[in-house]
Amino acid sequence: MKILVVNCGSSSLKYQLIDMNGEKALAQGLVERIGIEGSTLTQKVEGREKYIIKQPMASHKDAIKLVLGALVDNTNGVIKDMNEISAVGHRVVHGGEKYSNSVLITDEVMKALDECAKLAPLHNPPNIIGINACKELMPNTPMVAVFDTAFHQTIPEHAYIYPLPYELYNEHGIRKYGFHGTSHRYVSSVVADMMGKDIKDLKIITCHLGNGASIAAIKDGKSIETSMGFTPLEGIAMGTRSGSIDPAIITFLMKELNYSIDQVNDLINKKSGVLGISGVSSDFRDIEDAAWKEGNKRAQLALDVFYYKVKKFIGSYAAVMNGVDCIVFTAGLGENSPEVREFVCEGLDYLGIKLDKEKNKVRGKAVDLSVEGSKSKVFVIPTNEELMIARDAMEIVNN
Ligand code: ADP
Repeated sequence: MKILVVNCGSSSLKYQLIDMNGEKALAQGLVERIGIEGSTLTQKVEGREKYIIKQPMASHKDAIKLVLGALVDNTNGVIKDMNEISAVGHRVVHGGEKYSNSVLITDEVMKALDECAKLAPLHNPPNIIGINACKELMPNTPMVAVFDTAFHQTIPEHAYIYPLPYELYNEHGIRKYGFHGTSHRYVSSVVADMMGKDIKDLKIITCHLGNGASIAAIKDGKSIETSMGFTPLEGIAMGTRSGSIDPAIITFLMKELNYSIDQVNDLINKKSGVLGISGVSSDFRDIEDAAWKEGNKRAQLALDVFYYKVKKFIGSYAAVMNGVDCIVFTAGLGENSPEVREFVCEGLDYLGIKLDKEKNKVRGKAVDLSVEGSKSKVFVIPTNEELMIARDAMEIVNN
């Protein structure tokens, strides 16, 4: 069975065609600048040159038409006919409280997604546009929605309720939802396999550290706490997002410094985090270079703030789970920066965590990084949200 996985952003679209027989990605691609001058599709197939198409794409429907064309293309494609695609799995950011699992997309589901759009105004609308475009072009192919929030629906009430008037939850759905659920679910299942244990017997802390970053506490195979909240802004400092700050800073900015709502929004989402502190970049590679090659003090401070925040979450999650059996690092930074793993794990020996600095030199592979015999383990595991989406789509279609 072949499953197409689609992840639509406002002006971009990522896709993978996965052969579930062997769980191998046949092709993966990215369409950029949809609706903007310079639209480009880039498709990668193992062992071949990149296939690049530059042509105007006014809408997501145009983009998906081109994706399907690239997949069946005589020389650059990987399938003969679109009908070889058994299902499409769509990444959807917000499923609200309604969805704690992936679902087959029906008219009723589409209505519910529209309702969730106000909770994720930047993310859900492009996801919905992508689903509609696929439905139009592939009317007979089943579509499945896989939600970023779903895995965290097991978080208990005392952890997801904010200390605000209860009506804000009751009437407006203001609560912690959590994000990156597909990634936390994937790496936690892989680490249980690597440890040869039933996930139900483990206390796991997963650190998804990319441009957006979140940490989750997983006990008995269920997410019981995570650092992102009502939106993906809460939690640790990120590339450009502030993470958690004193909420009174916002009223101060508006009252004393005359910031508008849009300016505040822009500041905490796009100009803060390690970019804001360092003034160098949101990309950790640039910040590490500035700090360690050029001795830039603010760049070093940004790194120190980041390590400190991650460490604080790990400590608090060990507290809520009454211990930790393993910590997993994943996503762009977690997978590729040995230094981040080293500095975060420094001083966690009270939890039984001992990182082997030699093993830690690894990049992009799933490896146990712990010193032999240490009580708790630390792992790096490359995430694979697309595979998780494809697995869910296959399971739903088969049932
Ligand atoms: P996104 O949240 O956009 O999916 P990714 O998971 O792809 O982000 O992570 C991207 C980030 O990973 C980059 O911004 C960069 O900070 C970090 N990163 C990637 N490779 C490296 C590396 N070799 N060293 C340090 N940081 C890296």
